Amino acid sequence: MSTEGNDVITAQVILELAGKLLPKPVRTEHKGRKTTIVGGDPGKAVIQVLPDRVKISVYGVSWVGTHMLKADHEMLAEMYYESLSDPRTAEKILRKLVQVAVLIRKSQFRKCTICLKVHPPEHMLESTCHSCAEKHLGIVF
Ligand SMILES: [Zn+2]
Repeated sequence: MSTEGNDVITAQVILELAGKLLPKPVRTEHKGRKTTIVGGDPGKAVIQVLPDRVKISVYGVSWVGTHMLKADHEMLAEMYYESLSDPRTAEKILRKLVQVAVLIRKSQFRKCTICLKVHPPEHMLESTCHSCAEKHLGIVF
């Protein structure tokens, strides 16, 4: 057992790990005492850092009306810093959870039957992406 200060898990330690482990590019938002870090563009995994705990989620959005997307992440795990024994263990656990979140998110992507590009589910209308639906099917969003 070590009592060295740098073995203690703090929000700062988790913030640094999040920046390192999440897929690039990384976007950070601060809201009150919560920092949300989204990895990937389109987003794939999300780490939310609170003063006492961290949450790892699969990135998700849902439409509010027809033109606005709102964050709708699916949480995989919530861990209090005291349950993460040291930075190395924290990194191992976070790395695995981020990998799982990315895999789940990628499994939701679909190939458009017209442009054959792969799109996240929020930009798909059944088997067609929104831009092809607009261009080729005359659907107006
Ligand atoms: Zn398309």
